[in-house]
Amino acid sequence: MNAHDYISDVLDYIERTSLGQVTFKQAATEILRALEPVLDREPKYIKHKVVDRMVMPERTNIFRITYANDKGEPESHYGYRVQFNSAIGPYKGGLRFHPSVNLDIIKFLGFEQIFKNSLTGLSMGGAKGGANFDPKGKSDGEIMRFCQAFMNALHEIIGDVIDVPAGDIGVGGREIGYMFGQYKRIKHRFEGTLTGKGLSWGGSLVRTEATGYGLVYFANEMLKKAGRGFEGLTCAVSGAGNVAIYTCEKLYQFGAKPVTVSDSTGYIYDAEGIDVALLKQLKEVERVGLREYSVRKAGSKFIPVSEYKPGRNGVWDVKCDAAFPCATQNEVSLADIEVLYNNGCRLLAEGANLPSTLDAMEFMAAKSDFLYGPAKAANAGGVATSGLEMAQNAAMESWSFEKVDARLQGIMKHIFDISYETSVEFGRPGDLVLGGNIAGFRKVADAMIDQGY
Ligand code: NDP
Repeated sequence: MNAHDYISDVLDYIERTSLGQVTFKQAATEILRALEPVLDREPKYIKHKVVDRMVMPERTNIFRITYANDKGEPESHYGYRVQFNSAIGPYKGGLRFHPSVNLDIIKFLGFEQIFKNSLTGLSMGGAKGGANFDPKGKSDGEIMRFCQAFMNALHEIIGDVIDVPAGDIGVGGREIGYMFGQYKRIKHRFEGTLTGKGLSWGGSLVRTEATGYGLVYFANEMLKKAGRGFEGLTCAVSGAGNVAIYTCEKLYQFGAKPVTVSDSTGYIYDAEGIDVALLKQLKEVERVGLREYSVRKAGSKFIPVSEYKPGRNGVWDVKCDAAFPCATQNEVSLADIEVLYNNGCRLLAEGANLPSTLDAMEFMAAKSDFLYGPAKAANAGGVATSGLEMAQNAAMESWSFEKVDARLQGIMKHIFDISYETSVEFGRPGDLVLGGNIAGFRKVADAMIDQGY
């Protein structure tokens, strides 16, 4: 059987067995179609049915989480931990708390994570988890009780050599702290079973900044390969959380200017450049909506979601040289990327997971004058630094900011190089979707074959 037919069969199998899981199917389609050239070249992968096995999580955990809200009433949510693949190391991947979380979303994130973690060159398997819980508007006490209830269910299936969760949307340092405390209370063990911890209790310097910083390091490698640089570029950034904030911060350090950020209420356009200190104050300390930015920063403008054109994400209307989607999945449609391109944008690097729809990705791939950095390569800096946090915990060490940052830069360069070299090897120079997916796949697939079935 040729690779194209084999992949079509696997996608049909997903369609039949993962009913209604459209985002998982979308992610699988993007990844599996990119693998066809390596499957045609190396028949062992089809012979050992590696891809059939990879699309099935090793273990899928779904549990009820009940906690008491501030009125003393019980509230219940679905909790998930999908442990997708442990061929090259303990499961590793973030936890997302957002009302949109369901098994489909967690499976797409967990599947992507397998290839992303492999690309970092570190020994980490792929997993993802979370809950359909909305942290917005909840008191600190409610967040704490929810995190404790979540850990009451999760503790049985994680551990420092089993599964090491981290943050994602809605899960930052505060939530990791509450979960770590509860894990320790239940297990009587101080072990690095979560990453993104506080600095005085096992955390790593640079972990907070890592995904955004890593994204810009990666984009810088893309620009360098094209004989260009960041100096003087105007950038549009979406999102206003962890990844967006530290993307903006690093863009300034490279001489570029971010002029937008967005959240679920709308976006900010600030022609002078986003004020990162104000953004941190609003999002990390006060936890308020972005309209407040325009109240406190003269000359900036807030455009609410209600004013977006139908089917469009307004933040991409802003003229820019480079775009950095850092909010959530499917936030760049074909119509969005067409507007970006026609306005002169020539680079898009993904901080969020799966932010571009399949047709938007095809549009970017087809443009020879456009640089496209797909998420699993471009945003791997977060999980890579989590891997460095695990290494520090295991050695009972705390590395300096400079040391971790230098390792992060080295890892992002390695990911770019291996993705680019693989794209050249398969005759599609610069196709980082193909290069990244194949490079990530080979290591995991070979390990699966070595370990038998
Ligand atoms: P945060 O929770 O810190 O921030 C998320 C931001 O995106 C918020 O501004 C939020 O707005 C906005 N957002 C979320 N969902 C939507 C939506 N449906 N529509 C519009 N805006 C939305 O999350 P992170 O910054 O950590 O994560 C952002 C993306 O980066 C995610 O795709 C995540 O998977 C990915 N990522 C994160 C990593 C990390 O280390 N944190 C690592 C690799 C990838 P609001 O506050 O109004 O909800």
